[in-house]
Parts: sequence; structure tokens; C-alpha cells
Amino acid sequence: MLRTVASFDRIGEENAFAVLARATDLARAGRDIINLGIGQPDFLTPPHVVSAATQALQEGHHGYTPAAGILPLREAVCADIDRRLGIEVGPDSVLIVPGGKVTMFMAILMFGEPGAEILYPDPGFPIYRSMIEFTGATPVPIPIREENDFAFSAAETLSLITPATRLVIVNSPANPTGGVTPKAEIDTLVEGLARHPGVAILSDEIYGQMTYDGLAHQTLLAYPQIRDRLILLDGWSKTYAMTGWRLGYSIWPDALYDKARKLAVNSFSCVNAATQFAGIAALEGPQDEVHAMVAEFDRRRRVVVEGMNALPGITCRTPKGAFYAFPNIAGTGWAAKELASALLEEAGVAVIGGPDFGILGEGYIRLSYANSTENIQKAITRIADFLAANPR
Ligand code: PLP
Repeated sequence: MLRTVASFDRIGEENAFAVLARATDLARAGRDIINLGIGQPDFLTPPHVVSAATQALQEGHHGYTPAAGILPLREAVCADIDRRLGIEVGPDSVLIVPGGKVTMFMAILMFGEPGAEILYPDPGFPIYRSMIEFTGATPVPIPIREENDFAFSAAETLSLITPATRLVIVNSPANPTGGVTPKAEIDTLVEGLARHPGVAILSDEIYGQMTYDGLAHQTLLAYPQIRDRLILLDGWSKTYAMTGWRLGYSIWPDALYDKARKLAVNSFSCVNAATQFAGIAALEGPQDEVHAMVAEFDRRRRVVVEGMNALPGITCRTPKGAFYAFPNIAGTGWAAKELASALLEEAGVAVIGGPDFGILGEGYIRLSYANSTENIQKAITRIADFLAANPR
């Protein structure tokens, strides 16, 4: 029998992919399934971005690129950050990676080992905890609370830091809650981190361009006092509807950049060359499709929130970012994962049970509103009918 190293007994995964596979199987078998499970925009990548990739292929960009990514793309990332956020970043701090996930993989590998503690949001993106456990480090959940509108609390986060803490992971706008943490809270976190100079910070800002109600995105890049220990995670997947292209970037502090670049050399060598050219077109081309997509998500957000709040036993906060709602279903009497599974199998609606995002996700389900308004309305009717027919 093959015996892998013990860390593989601890690695987890993302149940959203399992739900997608099951929903696809059911649909293939002829069932009418509405998918509110998967976290990807239901839009196509803008055509000028696709053209840039095909043009790059036709022009012969078929070989390796530098591991860090091609310079024009890294420069385009810096220009985009300057344009959107008014913050200066040099191309030598930018690493191009195959998707947003890779940055968290690298950062957690750099700081995780037995005896180390890593703080991460709960409920939160499931790969944080999976990778922390893989490294043998101790996962320390930062509770993300509904009564706090799913923002993280700076005071609570700071109170969890011990001498063993090596890395703090924050995510705003957040998956799975749609929570956005206000500037004042981030100010307090950064102020408090001054007392812990040996702690690194990973800020997952992959939904940074998806905020509503006129809220400006609050990036941790705006705090020069932590730039020497801040790792920023961002990418093209959500903003430009490019989840399948596998394109992301990270900004690394000087002390870590070369370690991250070496991890790239040791694993994927470089991101697909044509995709990198598509990335330049996305950043430098017109942004109207991004704005139109976010405006459409905003309209659907209202439909989801209103529809869910009308159901007995369910309350739903208004998400301020990303494209998820995280309704509280405790009043229905159903356990969250059982409800998610029953909704898929019996009502034909794919959603994700809150516990797939952490222990504190019990009592909630995640709905992705990356689906048409018509389908969202239909799904809400199906959920209503299912709950009425199956009281707990
Ligand atoms: N970070 C968060 C919070 C996410 O929700 C996701 C994807 O769902 C990612 C990172 C990973 O993005 P990518 O698909 O680019 O790897």
C-alpha cells in the first residue's frame, strides 16, 4: 500500500466543487437544477480580452515566460492599482500566479509549521483552514459575526494573537458572507498590529471591485506601516469573469518576494503565456463590462435579500460586497448542510451549507447570486415551497 506523508491526511477541499459536480450530474440526468452554489460570475470574459489571448497565440507566444510573469503584465497591475486605489506599487513586488488560490497556498506554506498559529476568518474560504492544517500549524478562527454585519472585528482579531502567531488572514469583501469590513475597523487592526511586528498579514482582496451602495474598497495596501509584512491576494477570476483562465497576482514585501518566486519556479514555472496577454487587455481595456456586471449583481442582491427575508424562519442581511448572500436559516429548524443537500436533491436548487465554510457557519446557507434574476426568483419559490412542505 502506498503511504503518503501524514500532512495529506489533513488536507481538505472546497465543497462548492462537489456541489457543482452533483448539480451537473443531476442536470445531465434530466433534472431542472438552478445553481446558486458556485462562486463564479455567470458572464463571459469580455471579448477584447479573449481576442488578446488568441492574438498572442497567433503571434507565437507559446513558450515559457519569466516565473514572475511578463513585465508588461506586472506593470499593468501596478498601473491598475494606482488608477483604482491611488497607491504606488513597483512591478518587482508583483508575482503573476495561476489563480487567486495560489497566493494563499504560498503564504500559508511560508508561515505554517507545527507550533505556529495562523488566524483565519470563520466562516471563510475553506482553503485557508485546509492549507493551515496541511502545514501542521494550528488554525485559529477569527469569528465573523452576523450581528457585526459579517465584518471582522479588529479587537477580537488582535485578542487572538499570541507569541506563536505567524500569519493573520483577512478577507474583505468576504466569501461566503458578502461582508465588508469598514475602514475604522481596519485602521484599528493595523494600529494593533504595530505591537506584533513579527506577524505577517495576508489580505485576500479578490472581491475588491465588487462593493455596493457606493462603498469604496478599503485595501490594506493603503497602510505603509505594514507594507513590509503584507501579502496582497488579487486576480482576474471574479472581476473579469475569468475563473477558468487561472490568472491571479500577489504583491509581496521585499523580504518574501524571492521565496514566492522560487515556489513558482518549483511548481508551475510560469502562468500560460497567452493568458498573461489577456490579463493585460483586461486591465488596460475598457472597464464598462466590469461596471455593468457589478450593477447587475447589485440588482440581483436586492432580489435575493428581499426574497429570503420573506420566508418564514429565515433572515438575511444585505451583503455589501462580492456576490453572495448568507441567510440565517436557524429559524426553519433545519441543520444547514441537511437543508442544502435536501434543496439540491428534492427542490433542484444548489446552495452551499454554511458549515462548509467553518464551524461558525452552522445555521446559515450561502447563495451565490451569479445567476439570472429569473432563476433566482424561481429558486426562492422552490425553497419556499420545499420549506412549507417539509417543516422541522
Ligand atoms: N479567495 C476567495 C475569498 C475566493 O472566494 C476565491 C474563489 O472563490 C479565491 C480566493 C480563489 O480564486 P481563484 O479562482 O482565482 O483561485
